[in-house]
Amino acid sequence: MSFQFDPRQYIRTVPDWPVQGVQFRDITTLLEHKLGFRQTIDCYVHRYFEADIDAVVGIDARGFIIGAPIAYELRSSFVPVRKKGKLPGETVCESYELEYGSAEIEMHTDALKPGSKVILVDDLIATGGTMLAAARLIEKLGASIVEVCAIVNLPDLGGSRKLEEAGYKVFSLCEYE
Ligand code: 5GP
Repeated sequence: MSFQFDPRQYIRTVPDWPVQGVQFRDITTLLEHKLGFRQTIDCYVHRYFEADIDAVVGIDARGFIIGAPIAYELRSSFVPVRKKGKLPGETVCESYELEYGSAEIEMHTDALKPGSKVILVDDLIATGGTMLAAARLIEKLGASIVEVCAIVNLPDLGGSRKLEEAGYKVFSLCEYE
């Protein structure tokens, strides 16, 4: 079942933030729009409702905002990928490059069962470094990634291509050049 919706009408572009030359795609204006927020969540729910998803894995922090309601609607569990140092239990860790800077992310080692079916969710794919690192965490735990998905894809930055070359299916609701 497909559900057509273009969220760009609700996404604000902030020039030169957080650094000169970056066009930041601000999804807070989408979240603030009652219908836009609902339609965003509904797109993923329609897409994955019959896929028998065990867990939605959301990336710190904007991936939490959309990942949790998707998981709730899919009757699946929600698993957070967090920035290093935030999770209290035993973790697996990966480092990655950002569009601006570098970072490390972690997931609890007991968060996913081997063989479980998951989708990986974030707000935006730029260079793909964040998604790739999160996907590596999921694979370390032996779970299987049905698709990696975002609200926004920036294909010119090469992330979605890198993810596809690494063997992942990629889904986004919209793109910006
Ligand atoms: P990547 O690792 O693909 O280069 O960058 C994606 C990560 O950086 C995501 O976690 C995303 O939240 C954040 N990010 C980078 N650029 C933007 C942007 O323009 N808008 C938003 N909302 N997030 C961004």
